[in-house]
Amino acid sequence: MNNKIIFEKIIQKKTSKNIIYQDKQVTAFYDIKPQALVHFLVIPNIYISSLNEITKKNKDIVGYMMYIAIKIAKQLKISDSGYRIVVNCNKNAGQEIKYLHIHVLGGEKLNNIN
Ligand code: C5P
Repeated sequence: MNNKIIFEKIIQKKTSKNIIYQDKQVTAFYDIKPQALVHFLVIPNIYISSLNEITKKNKDIVGYMMYIAIKIAKQLKISDSGYRIVVNCNKNAGQEIKYLHIHVLGGEKLNNIN
């Protein structure tokens, strides 16, 4: 299965994915291979392949994705201790799924990346 279709099926609730939140604009679900105690993804419901496809016209979705990511982090009670938001763009960053997604990682001490 093409990896874009995997995320489209999650949005359509055609997989057993553990969806945390969904509204008209975005869907959030737990990552299948968590890299931290808490690891979820936030994706737009409308297909955007990567950050490089963000334009003046669709830019508001990025802010909304961040807003929902932060809101869920608070609900999951990982916000006070801290969390990390990551967006990989294209191959040098290791973007495997060609469908824009925000990673939210937390629930434990994360390794320093700088
Ligand atoms: O940023 P990147 O493209 O590498 O991240 C893709 C993420 O999507 C991975 O963390 C992977 O575990 C997750 N994934 C998922 N469910 C799938 C396929 C991939 O949660 N069915």
